[in-house]
Amino acid sequence: MPELPEVETIARRVDERVRGDYIAQVWFSGKREPFKTPPAHQRNGLIGRAFLFIHRVGKHIVCELGARRAGGDAEESRDTQAQWILHLGMTGRLLVTAAESPVEPHTHARLSLASGLELRFVDPRRFGRLEFRDLGRSKMFEAPGADPLSIGPEAFAALFRGRRLAIKAALLNQTLLAGVGNIYADESLFHAGIRPRRSAGRLTRAELERLRGCLRQVLRHAIRLGGSSVSDYVDADGARGFFQVEHCVYMRTGEPCRRCHTPIRRILVAGRGTHFCPQCQR
Ligand SMILES: [Zn+2]
Repeated sequence: MPELPEVETIARRVDERVRGDYIAQVWFSGKREPFKTPPAHQRNGLIGRAFLFIHRVGKHIVCELGARRAGGDAEESRDTQAQWILHLGMTGRLLVTAAESPVEPHTHARLSLASGLELRFVDPRRFGRLEFRDLGRSKMFEAPGADPLSIGPEAFAALFRGRRLAIKAALLNQTLLAGVGNIYADESLFHAGIRPRRSAGRLTRAELERLRGCLRQVLRHAIRLGGSSVSDYVDADGARGFFQVEHCVYMRTGEPCRRCHTPIRRILVAGRGTHFCPQCQR
């Protein structure tokens, strides 16, 4: 499952390659699941538009699209007129390829671009979603939760006030924070020295501030390394782009803590395997 750093990395790499390019032609598979907006509607909405820029919003990849190019030298608008919103689900991948490169099985979308490149969405398990929004008719896309990389101290503390659930469960709650998955929740709690089962509402302001800082650090570090997914991601260029970060606790059950050598323990919190150091985390 791609987490925030993988999604951020994919969005940046796709942005580098297709920003400013035009969508000349669109092909979609006949599969129903990936299309949150009916495929015919998406196709009509996408054709002729330019990619202004591509970025991450929560765990979604959002392509900001300009006005449709009417004639040869129509005036270019820099304002977003429409959005193409992708969620990678469990196994979704977004590839930028040459038009002639072979089409993989489970390809659900192919956008042929004016430059000759193709943007392809491949998803064997079909939990990914594709949505089109014409901003003349619908609202701008927003992630349900706050962004862990940009949230300030006040807003971060307010997220957890009065909450009785475990801090690990609160970090994973996508309506509170968008895009924090299991790996980064465990790693940031380790760096902040906080036990995963502690009640979210009972953490001190200092602990919450430490946690906010560690969460940002862990996510930023992973983004710098190009994401740290443990499954076999193929990034936007079709090359194997992700390598595993040296995790401190995640999936290191029984191995010595990198800081104090106490064996790392594994428990279940909110049904998810949770890893921590019983010595370093209080
Ligand atoms: Zn330790």
